[in-house]
Amino acid sequence: MASTWEVVIGMEVHVQPRTRSKMFCGCAIGNIGDPPNSNVCEVCLGLPGVLPVVNKAAVEACLKTALALDCEIPRHTKFDRKNYMYPDLPKGYQISQYDLPMSVNGSLDVDGRRVRIRRVHLEEDTGKLIHAGDKLHKAWESFVDLNRAGVPLMEIVSEPDLRSADEARDYAIGLRTLLRTIGASEADMEKGQLRAEPNISIRHAGTQELGVKTELKNINSFRALHRAILYEVTRQTEILEAGGAVVQETRGWSEAEQRTFSQRSKELAEDYRYFPEPDLPPLELDLAWIEDLRRALPELPGARRARLVSDYGLPAADAAQIAADRDLADLFEGAVGAGAGAKPVANWIIGEVAPTGKIPTPEHLAEVVKLVTAGSITRDQAKEVLMESVETGRSPSQIVAEHGFAQISDESALEAEVRAVMAANPRAVEDYRAGKKQAIGALMADLKKRAPQANPKVASDLLLKLLG
Ligand SMILES: [Zn+2]
Repeated sequence: MASTWEVVIGMEVHVQPRTRSKMFCGCAIGNIGDPPNSNVCEVCLGLPGVLPVVNKAAVEACLKTALALDCEIPRHTKFDRKNYMYPDLPKGYQISQYDLPMSVNGSLDVDGRRVRIRRVHLEEDTGKLIHAGDKLHKAWESFVDLNRAGVPLMEIVSEPDLRSADEARDYAIGLRTLLRTIGASEADMEKGQLRAEPNISIRHAGTQELGVKTELKNINSFRALHRAILYEVTRQTEILEAGGAVVQETRGWSEAEQRTFSQRSKELAEDYRYFPEPDLPPLELDLAWIEDLRRALPELPGARRARLVSDYGLPAADAAQIAADRDLADLFEGAVGAGAGAKPVANWIIGEVAPTGKIPTPEHLAEVVKLVTAGSITRDQAKEVLMESVETGRSPSQIVAEHGFAQISDESALEAEVRAVMAANPRAVEDYRAGKKQAIGALMADLKKRAPQANPKVASDLLLKLLG
């Protein structure tokens, strides 16, 4: 009998908090495309004799994130040096947090399951190496850009509570929504502001002991995260079923080859020779400040999702999709507040607004939904009106008037068109009358072409009546 494997995934997520300056100096965060080494100073270059200063905005973003994840905030926290030599790390160490992180023991609800958060702490990013050259002539050159060295990062570490690639992806999406909702980060993966590092192992279903895990580094899209985990699960399953052993190591994800590859064997904490950062005093956090931050948190996505179900009667799946994006959720509540029905508004947001990413004003969406519900315009016309209102800012009723859009719901006005369609499609009429009821589809399609303003319900009723 083939054994059943259980997938066990924990995740480290690095998030760049929304700050103007770096973690320990006044350098600007800058933008992608800035000239290399243009946002640097003595502190982030690690020159001798300089002292770091903690960025208060980064601490505040980290505390807000921790509070939103229901973490405990210990009174005392400190920074530590994580020592290693690498060309993108000018100081020869990274300032991070080791045994007294800024927060511990939180959780995030993912699809109704509680995923425990071990800790959320602060650290600094490293620089970037750029390799250039020509393999043929063995003329390789490496360059270093330290614009990102010292950029603040929050590290959010989960317990190994995730059980599938789907869950891991949904967890990362849930984190992004939360971070954007509380304004702690823009969490834009394309800009490297959110990077996921899942650790993955498998074990026989029903056993408690954890298998040997591999850690995937720096995954920068939800799609890559999902695929990389699926690949890694298959790879580990094949090794174990062939009687082999998984090696504990760090692996990368090749987007081009759609596979993971070995990078290096896992370092142990001892290898980093952590010790308290001597240039920064331990932080004693002000309880009143923490309480102020807690009180100022907006409604969190989980609570909003529940409220969209209880207050508006939305199906759970609709509520989850809309609450996952603060802009969509605001649009939904605004449009319903402007008098449109909850379920039709949800349908329009999920069907039309979310896929295009073009967000109308709540008033305009409400107007379009009301025009369709009242039968004044067709659904196709409504889509056009909605898009045009987003692009021009003009109101839907204005656009409807300008285009002369109106839906013809009067039977007598449609009869000539319906008869013309029947005359033009004798074969379909014959088929329908001979019992091939699906022939109605061809007739309706032709009618839609000839009379796009026809009310589809009135037109099909009329067609059926004339077909006898
Ligand atoms: Zn600097």
